[in-house]
Amino acid sequence: MKTDLLQDALHRLHHIVKETGISEATYQALAHPSRTLISSLPVRMDDGSTGYFKAYRCQYNDLLGPTKGGVRFHQQTDQSEVAALALWMTLKCAAVNVPFGGAKGGVTVDPKLLSAMELERLARAYVRANADFIGPEQDIPAPDVYTNARIMGWMMDEYEKIERRKAPGVITGKPLIFGGSEGRESATGRGAFLVIEALAEKLDWQPFNKTVAIQGFGNGGYHCARLLHHAGYKVVAVSDSKGGIYSKQGLDIESIYQEKQTSKALKAVYCDGSVCETVEHKVITNQDLLELDVDILIPAALSNVIDENNADKVNARYIVEIANGPISSNADSILAEKNVYVVPDILANAGGVIVSYFEWCQNRQGEKWSLEKVQEKLACYMTNAFDTAWLTTQKHKIPLREAVYKQALLRIESAIEAHGTQNYFTNGD
Ligand code: NAD
Repeated sequence: MKTDLLQDALHRLHHIVKETGISEATYQALAHPSRTLISSLPVRMDDGSTGYFKAYRCQYNDLLGPTKGGVRFHQQTDQSEVAALALWMTLKCAAVNVPFGGAKGGVTVDPKLLSAMELERLARAYVRANADFIGPEQDIPAPDVYTNARIMGWMMDEYEKIERRKAPGVITGKPLIFGGSEGRESATGRGAFLVIEALAEKLDWQPFNKTVAIQGFGNGGYHCARLLHHAGYKVVAVSDSKGGIYSKQGLDIESIYQEKQTSKALKAVYCDGSVCETVEHKVITNQDLLELDVDILIPAALSNVIDENNADKVNARYIVEIANGPISSNADSILAEKNVYVVPDILANAGGVIVSYFEWCQNRQGEKWSLEKVQEKLACYMTNAFDTAWLTTQKHKIPLREAVYKQALLRIESAIEAHGTQNYFTNGD
């Protein structure tokens, strides 16, 4: 049976609230999404028929600013998943101190079954259905699973046509020519890489003897793999929805990426000039990948891939969550017993929303920042968030996930108080 992702996310949140001494009132403020717009998107298919696709936009909480969150196109997306992802966006923005609340969107569709034109009509239909719900000062979508800069460009174009004005700040992660930001494409993977580097510094690691396995070779997974490979880490396994590849001596990430672009398949190849040599590698399943004996495991695809049924089979020493919610709440304690150190999603994958925030700032100011400036500022936000959480883990001897949640919840608690609370009235007596 499919796990109810929102219930699971709230279960973990409540546990952390109690463990870290955050007030029950703060939990209650986050126990329900503020609002969700559910629509059915009629889309003209290439054969002339009309397809109908269920779509969601959940604005979970806007205490800290306009809501922000990606739109995913996936066949398993449902209301509970979208709400859980929106809750995590709320916590993530608070944890890394960007002035946004949390939102998320999704369309239940297998995008691989659509032609490019059908995909464009679907993206535009999503914006038409949500045009009154989103906006640069209200709710700002971005890419997520199976959506990308091109799709964001179509969405922004549709929004501007409806509004009859330029509004680049309505969507982030769009093409550079439309006001996208330098460095947005690689931001999520780079942010995760920066967190791994920060952890390495604290633990005095040398990259050269560290092995890494990455599930999901999309936007987040690929860029992180590329940066780790360049820094000297040995990426021994990668996978996508069709399965994975493993090579004990390490994979050449760039050549795999190039090969995947042309053949759409994962293959271990080393390209030298125009000659590509296939390297000895094993084909593995996504489940095999999660159980590999590696130093760092990076789930970078879907939620709930590690749960109570397979957590005890994980052999990695560290898990860095690029995917949102890859570990179910009841797997946390199993992994803790095995001394697996987890860098939580709301920190590890925050690079994307941080650079989305930079993109939104640039759009509002009519500016264009250099790649160097974006990367420098991203590093600042990521290391600040990591260092604060690290100090909390050391001081209170709590897991990194609890420390990061605590720093998010304290900011949300302050915002609740600033908006006016019960305490305000009772203290006034
Ligand atoms: P993407 O669409 O670019 O890539 C997804 C990857 O996952 C692809 O390689 C796909 O083949 C693989 N995949 C799909 N189903 C799979 C399965 N059943 N088993 C194994 N692999 C599978 O998506 P992305 O943007 O890289 O997002 C990946 C994860 O990172 C998601 O959980 C997303 O919410 C999270 N994330 C993304 C961003 C961002 O800026 N893109 C930011 C924060 C978090």
